[in-house]
Amino acid sequence: MTCKTCGNPERKIWPPVSQVPKFKGLGSENWMLLVECPECGNFWAGVPYEPYASFVYYVTWDKSIEQWKLEIGQKDGSNLHAWHKKQLLMYKNTLTDNDMESIQHHRERNYGRDPYTEA
Ligand SMILES: [Zn+2]
Repeated sequence: MTCKTCGNPERKIWPPVSQVPKFKGLGSENWMLLVECPECGNFWAGVPYEPYASFVYYVTWDKSIEQWKLEIGQKDGSNLHAWHKKQLLMYKNTLTDNDMESIQHHRERNYGRDPYTEA
């Protein structure tokens, strides 16, 4: 069943749209966040992008909290950041028109840069 709050399991990515659910914070380390959907308990790993680290891109995290803490602590989290970027690209075709508009807005605010144009 699809979660009414976060869209799990259909939704794989939450780009910086105004409708991002009010997630519960579980951790923050090495420029990454781990949050939880208050309704279904699904985990999401978020990376804040400039400007002002105010554009957060979440991807679904299907491992445990402990595993996230372990991986984000290794090599300043670089492996996990690479994984996050890969997920964004892998699930790009699941983004809605509204998602694409928000990413376009982010790109305009950030001098043409967003996770997709940087890749
Ligand atoms: Zn949910």
